[in-house]
Amino acid sequence: MRIVLLGAPGAGKGTQAKKLIEKYGIPQISTGDLLRAAVSAGTALGKEAKSYMDKGELVPDMVVLGMVEERLKQDDCKKGYILDGFPRNTAQAEALDKMLESLNMPLTGAVSVDVPFDDLMKRLTGRRTCKSCGQMYNVYFSPPNKDAVCDKCGGELFQRDDDKEETIKKRLEVYTAQTEPLMGYYKGKGLLKSVSGTGSIEEIFAKICAILEGK
Ligand code: AMP
Repeated sequence: MRIVLLGAPGAGKGTQAKKLIEKYGIPQISTGDLLRAAVSAGTALGKEAKSYMDKGELVPDMVVLGMVEERLKQDDCKKGYILDGFPRNTAQAEALDKMLESLNMPLTGAVSVDVPFDDLMKRLTGRRTCKSCGQMYNVYFSPPNKDAVCDKCGGELFQRDDDKEETIKKRLEVYTAQTEPLMGYYKGKGLLKSVSGTGSIEEIFAKICAILEGK
């Protein structure tokens, strides 16, 4: 299984990817997570990336492509991978195709998680993540039992810097202008399947699994 997960920021790609890892035992490659790790580690790449991320803009393609290629070459990707948050524009999608061809691990599908635009704002402003285990919550839809504390591990919950209202608006604009056209790109290649991202996490997950298993 070698797939791309498509969808707007806040559509729930990260949540679904984490469940897919558990079920199918293949790694998730999230460029957002890789970039945030570089920012936390304070590397030169992280410092460069942060200036774009804080504005809600895309980090330059060269930076992201290098990171993805390095990750795809690791052994655990031999059994498959889930790309989450990458590609984000047509140039990245084309570069990815070339990269995957040379690595002999082409995509087997692209799954888009569709959520009405109006719902995305609340999903993003309400999003909280556990500092220790990465578990995600939403203060409106799936709050933790105790304020700002993770139900799973007791870790502290935080709001991502780029989940503030102004940055979110920009991220959604960037999505519409640059990332949404990828639906057409993958449809043209006969790889695209869509699921509605409205409903419970389990319902959406079941629909994605059915697609991936060709049911
Ligand atoms: P995400 O967690 O996927 O929403 O990504 C958070 C931020 O990281 C985005 O708003 C971008 O600034 C940056 N980013 C993540 N993935 C990419 C990518 N494939 N290309 C460019 N920038 C990215």
